[in-house]
Amino acid sequence: MTTDHGYPAVRMHIAGEWCQGGSGRTAPVLDPATEEEIGRVPLATPADLDRALDAAARGFGTWRDTPVARRTAVLHAAADLLTERAGAVGRIMTLEQGKPLAEAAGEARRVADTLRWHADDARRAYGRIIPSAPGTLLSVRREPIGPVAAFVPWNFPAGGPMRKISAALAAGCSIVVKASEETPATAMELVRCFADAGLPDGVLNLVFGEPAEVSARLIASPVTRLIAFTGSVPVGKLLAAEAGKVMKPSLMELGGHAPVIVCADADPVTAARRAARAKFANAGQVCTSPSRFLVHESLAEEFTAAFVAAAEAVVVGDGLAEGTTMGPLANERRLAAMERLVADAVARGAKVRTGGERLDRPGYFFPPTVLTGVPADAELMREEPFGPLAPIVPFTDLDEALATANALPYGLAAYGFTESAATAERLAGALEAGILSINHCGGSVHEAPSGGVKDSGYGREGGPEALDAYLITKRVSHLLAS
Ligand code: NAD
Repeated sequence: MTTDHGYPAVRMHIAGEWCQGGSGRTAPVLDPATEEEIGRVPLATPADLDRALDAAARGFGTWRDTPVARRTAVLHAAADLLTERAGAVGRIMTLEQGKPLAEAAGEARRVADTLRWHADDARRAYGRIIPSAPGTLLSVRREPIGPVAAFVPWNFPAGGPMRKISAALAAGCSIVVKASEETPATAMELVRCFADAGLPDGVLNLVFGEPAEVSARLIASPVTRLIAFTGSVPVGKLLAAEAGKVMKPSLMELGGHAPVIVCADADPVTAARRAARAKFANAGQVCTSPSRFLVHESLAEEFTAAFVAAAEAVVVGDGLAEGTTMGPLANERRLAAMERLVADAVARGAKVRTGGERLDRPGYFFPPTVLTGVPADAELMREEPFGPLAPIVPFTDLDEALATANALPYGLAAYGFTESAATAERLAGALEAGILSINHCGGSVHEAPSGGVKDSGYGREGGPEALDAYLITKRVSHLLAS
């Protein structure tokens, strides 16, 4: 069933059933390109959440005891369904989140591949046998931790849920996912792929609700064994503290404010083009988005001119319209934040080189914006912008740039541009970040771990490390002969 907008009727998925919340309470889902209501998302009651927990407890028993070859086959089947449906899923994502259709369908296809990667890795969750005394078998086993409670945001409506679902299911865990109430239908379509692929009931449950109510109940429940969160630093700290109170481990993938250091020996035009492409992807609403551009003073003018040209070449519009390369911001909060950050920077002496004001049309449109002369105490230099703002700041020597880069409590991504292998190694050693890219600003890949240091969180997603949080390590020493 779909609405007039071609948007599906959103349902939760609990114990293998598609359902409304028990109270009938719903919240609106808006199209950020028009600000129109395109659907309603059901909100869970405490009783709905308890049913989801109960289902996850039973689902865990079933899934843990399913042969790994069968588990892998189900996950591959779900990935194949998602690949087939990527165009339709992408359209739903564009309607509810705003990103251009090609970007949205690309995200759906990419996360199908993430699922395949994790499905294969499930077969390699090896333990080990340790040399020991004769008659003794000393082993280390890796076992699924148990039911997981996951909370994911709206910026990657497919990528956010899939990173957690794929790692949890590959490890043999069950999961209750609270996806964003602002982008619920993409999450629903992902879950549909698993259900259609034959995933047993209760292994994957999807709920929506009042975020604080949902997280409090899921975290406190004795059923839940791991808390996995992607979102802002303040909410991450809150959930990690709640998990700590009940002695549960957590995986925290939080925000960043990624520095880009353009060294004196770099090609400023290439660096500007690559950095701008990454900056304006998903309208800057990416936790690893490059967001502080520290450019050697000898290159600053050339870099700025090339960056402004790249920003002005971006085609801002409705994500469903042909030719759009950047959609609206996902919600009104981001638009207000862009206006506040630009006004603060300008009040402190910054100059807007392009963009700077919301577009005069319905929808949460804010253009690619480049600022120079932004002082270090401007909010934009301290607070994650999570939007299409690019402050460019010149530096004189590399030590100064590294000190600026490391000065914030964030430590997620960092970028460097240099022709020198020695300088690249210096950046690699000195930058306080979990992810460093040299001479490019490419995104995450499922083969390699992503995650932060400092306030940007802990634990890793992607790579073989992705399963670590979802597995416990058990030592078994077995005296064979007495
Ligand atoms: P927010 O802090 O209100 O919410 C972030 C996410 O956490 C949302 O999905 C929200 O539903 C969820 N959330 C909020 N309170 C919660 C609670 N008590 N329990 C469980 N979940 C809860 O911020 P927002 O306005 O949605 O997004 C703005 C900021 O969030 C950005 O500035 C950015 O820093 C951060 N963010 C980061 C990522 C990321 O990938 N790390 C993604 C989205 C947003």
